[in-house]
Amino acid sequence: MKITIAGSGAMGCRFGGALFSAGHEVVLLDGWPEHVAAINAGGLRISDETGSRTVRVPAALFPAAVDPADLVIVFTKATATASVAAAAAGAIGPSTLVLTLQNGLGNIEVLRSYVPQPQLLAGTTTLGTELLGPGHIRALGSGETVLGALGPGPSDHAERTVLTLSAAGLPARVAADALAVIWAKVAFNCVMNSLCAIASIPVSALARYDGFDALASSILREVAVVAAAEGVAVDVAAALRLMKAQFDPAASGSHLASTLQDLMNGRPTEIAQLNGAIAARAQAHAIEAPLNALIAQLVGLLEATWPSRVNSLHR
Ligand code: NAD
Repeated sequence: MKITIAGSGAMGCRFGGALFSAGHEVVLLDGWPEHVAAINAGGLRISDETGSRTVRVPAALFPAAVDPADLVIVFTKATATASVAAAAAGAIGPSTLVLTLQNGLGNIEVLRSYVPQPQLLAGTTTLGTELLGPGHIRALGSGETVLGALGPGPSDHAERTVLTLSAAGLPARVAADALAVIWAKVAFNCVMNSLCAIASIPVSALARYDGFDALASSILREVAVVAAAEGVAVDVAAALRLMKAQFDPAASGSHLASTLQDLMNGRPTEIAQLNGAIAARAQAHAIEAPLNALIAQLVGLLEATWPSRVNSLHR
């Protein structure tokens, strides 16, 4: 297949590298010049617990003059979906499938203006990947990708895409309800990502806070009410169980949530697509979601002030 990765940071490189190694014609599109240059000069370096290998997958800078692909995977941060979709629009033809596995709310709505809904696939992935530097990623542990079409009924497009990913060593399955899968991950991230960023702690440290269940449940109940207003069911008890399973250091280890990593690296967080999106959608439905609104503001405060934190200045 001809596959274009639109947004080739950690995850885009992970998926693009695996699909290229499986024999597909892949191009990695990205906006970071040093990263694209490093991939084209020396190949994409992929490290994992078994060592390092180099994949000679081609990369190009946005906006790239690319032909329509069979599959476009959008893997930028949710903050950049609109600009990346516009910059990669040339890769989307009349029969191109477009897949988003990004975190947060709003990606689907943006992509709908570039691709008709029957060609749009969406889902989530629990594969973890870090971008170590230009042209170099670290693939972490195991994980699964769950995706589906957005219309009712079974989808050949989803089935075929799952087969393509699985055959490339990216374990995947079809979701019966892609929106429910996305909202469940949003619910998870609205608690875990945001609290770890505000407290500036690894995931496993949350176990030490006795008030976690009460706080997490309150945030989750707001998410569930907004989801219900949009016709999606979020299971609060199941979400809480999943979160507490991450407290086991064997499950999350010293993992730093992506929101915290973004703050530490001085990059914009996806908070507007997580708690911020819950607050905005609550308002649109005339529902109260004060905790999510406050969390979005607190993370915004951290984004604006991170370099002045007392911790980093007065140790
Ligand atoms: P990323 O931060 O690795 O890359 C996003 C963009 O930032 C890329 O265009 C990249 O080139 C650019 N970038 C990164 N470092 C840079 C630097 N130092 N200078 C200039 N540009 C730089 O994003 P990601 O982790 O691949 O996430 C993509 C999407 O997938 C997000 O929605 C994320 O929430 C989701 N996701 C990520 C993971 C993960 O483990 N990384 C897992 C599941 C879902």
